[in-house]
Amino acid sequence: MTRRTLRRSDELVAAGLVPPARAAEIAAVAEHFAVAVTPAMAALIEPGDAADPIARQFLPDAGELESAPEELADPIGDRRLSPVKGIVHRYPDRVLLKPSHACPVYCRFCFRREQVGPGGEGLDAAELEAALDYIRARPEIWEVIVTGGDPFLLSPRRLGLVVRALDAIPHLGVIRFHTRVPIVEPRRVGPALVRALKAEKAVYVAIHANHPRELTREARAACRRLARAGIPLLGQSVLLKGVNDDAATLTELFRGLVAMRVKPYYLHHPDLARGTARFRPTLAQGRALMRELRGRVSGLCQPSYVLDLPGGHGKVPVGPCYATPGEAETEWLIEDPWGARHAYPPRPQRR
Ligand SMILES: *Cc1c(COP(=O)(O)O)cnc(C)c1O
Ligand code: SF4
Repeated sequence: MTRRTLRRSDELVAAGLVPPARAAEIAAVAEHFAVAVTPAMAALIEPGDAADPIARQFLPDAGELESAPEELADPIGDRRLSPVKGIVHRYPDRVLLKPSHACPVYCRFCFRREQVGPGGEGLDAAELEAALDYIRARPEIWEVIVTGGDPFLLSPRRLGLVVRALDAIPHLGVIRFHTRVPIVEPRRVGPALVRALKAEKAVYVAIHANHPRELTREARAACRRLARAGIPLLGQSVLLKGVNDDAATLTELFRGLVAMRVKPYYLHHPDLARGTARFRPTLAQGRALMRELRGRVSGLCQPSYVLDLPGGHGKVPVGPCYATPGEAETEWLIEDPWGARHAYPPRPQRR
């Protein structure tokens, strides 16, 4: 069991996670995209299993250096929508605030893979103040989504500063964090971090998890510490080929999350980030999977399946639709969870 986060190809080889023959390939990818595997995730990888769903998420692959024609450096248009450093403002009522560009792990399918990394530029004190001023000056902003990178990598002291500054802005209703730390580095969610999140306003934490094996005893304990502090928890997952693209795995993942008090919020269709083609299912496959869950699995376990449109046009649900217009203007045909169609409103019975 390794104690440190693995970052270099020789470290991954020494830990037995990749065969020596692949060291050169991994080193070549690492020159372009950041690599990190935390001890908690390294412990879950089955060495020698080329199809291991945890390994697939974190171990580099030569395919990352090939870019499909439809792939983009900035797949969801973050840069075009950034009025000041560290802010992305796409919707009128909410902004992203990105104080740090570092992550505990680097997911091979990451949509911000060209921006994140250990050397990546975070915000210094003056830049953070300028970003906060942008929010303070705009009363239409109701929610701040603190993301990155991973905001839970900030020291509890700096995290506390950000929370208190946002808590003091009268027009904000919600402070939302997006993080992978409770899953990939659960021990980091200690009393100091939980205390740093204390606020008068509603603080939500959205947790990124993709495979039921990630929901370890330690991850469950980290979520329990957040839940006990009164923080509502949401789940965010990415639909990934070879990781979770079957109904049984998704069912186990979403049930596991709900049982840890984490409500699955979004299932993201993977973005068109460069070198990530090996992870992308088709939209038709994603919609078929969502259909399989509907009616079979508790409504609590149904996230909304969303696509973030390339170019910064926004996120929209792309899951199956059960309603089609009928012949008359007021008439609809509605499909039930088992595939049968019914007129709505029901046709009057003849007497
Ligand atoms: C995803 C995203 C949000 C949050 O969207 P929700 O649908 O509220 O979760 C906000 N701003 C930007 C720029 C985003 O990419
Ligand atoms: S934790 Fe999130 S931001 Fe960081 S590499 Fe993974 S997907 Fe990207």
